[in-house]
Amino acid sequence: MRRLTVVTLVGLASIILFAGVMLVDWLMTPSVFLEGMFVRLVAFPVALLPGIWLLHRWPVHWFIEWGVALAGLYALALSGLLIWLDSGHMAFIRTVEVNLVVIFTCALARFFPACLMAAGAMGVHLALMSTVPDPTGVMATPITLLLCATLIFTLYASYKLERDERMAFLLGLRERALDHALEQEHDRMAGLATTDALTGAANRRSFEQYLHDSTERARQQVQPLTLVMVDIDHFKKYNDHYGHQAGDECLRQVCRAMNDCLRRPLDMVARLGGEEFAVVLPEMEGADALAAAERLRRAVASLALPHARSLTSDIVSISVGLASTHGRDGLDAGSLLARADAALYAAKELGRNRVVQADALPSTPVADQGIAPSGALGAVS
Ligand code: GH3
Ligand code: MG
Ligand code: MG
Repeated sequence: MRRLTVVTLVGLASIILFAGVMLVDWLMTPSVFLEGMFVRLVAFPVALLPGIWLLHRWPVHWFIEWGVALAGLYALALSGLLIWLDSGHMAFIRTVEVNLVVIFTCALARFFPACLMAAGAMGVHLALMSTVPDPTGVMATPITLLLCATLIFTLYASYKLERDERMAFLLGLRERALDHALEQEHDRMAGLATTDALTGAANRRSFEQYLHDSTERARQQVQPLTLVMVDIDHFKKYNDHYGHQAGDECLRQVCRAMNDCLRRPLDMVARLGGEEFAVVLPEMEGADALAAAERLRRAVASLALPHARSLTSDIVSISVGLASTHGRDGLDAGSLLARADAALYAAKELGRNRVVQADALPSTPVADQGIAPSGALGAVS
């Protein structure tokens, strides 16, 4: 429950309780019953109710806490006044009421406002001890000791309660921070498990899962699907000539270029390892798939990364093989992969820097396979 709600409820309860003490006034100090009625039904509520209203208008932490102590001090002053006004022999024994007000207030107050309350209680008590006559002559000391004990215990309880509440709050914060850190770590690990550290593309593991799911979906929904295999040409020579770091940068750029030319959310680029990539193109086959693969090749070519040692071109180029299913042929992920691999192999065999579609690869020799000549596909740059 919010602190302001607790303070409000206890404040309203204190108005009822304070009014209820009229019964004690009537039984023990009837000479001030009328004054008591005025104090308990008018003076106390008339101050407390606007005070509670003000707290709701201005719910500032320190105002709420010190407001609690002020209300307690006010109740204490009014009780002390009634006892002081009484002329009967029971007035002195009623000074113990100070204890009740202290207990009631300090159960709610924070430690420092409770200290103020305790000081006020001791002041009221000493004033009463020195002005109200003790008919027995022996009660002052025990009543004072009783108040001291009450103050010590209530202040200790208030301190402990506040400390425990603060501790619980801090522990809650720490728990939330740990949960957050754990969640982030989990996300990071999940990212590491599915992405390639060098290029940020999907790794082989997530590619295999995605290809498997995509072929299953293509089969069930009788939809086309294309798998494109990509291999950088003469990359070993690139590494040997420019160095491994430049090779890494080349891999990153090639990957980014291919990613940038894919437009649909379900398309996926994965790095399978080394300088080999795969691209999954759901809901695509035939001429569209061939055009998409050619766009990949052109995107890499347009990077115009110099490759002085390439036997194919003077810039970095890729060979591309693609295979498609239309969903009715029952091709599974393994078969699709084998066909796309065979197409990539054919692209290499035919001189690299080109796109070959597996559909153009019957069991006839590669040279007669009707592979689109590089010129028609815009293959050789
Ligand atoms: P081909 O045209 O037939 O594909 O020839 P290639 O040289 O590209 O193919 P090969 O398989 O002989 O060499 C691949 C090279 O890729 C070997 C290795 O030096 C390089 N390589 C593999 N992984 C990495 C990597 O993470 N970073 C870098 N910089 N090079 C890598
Ligand atoms: Mg290669
Ligand atoms: Mg290779």
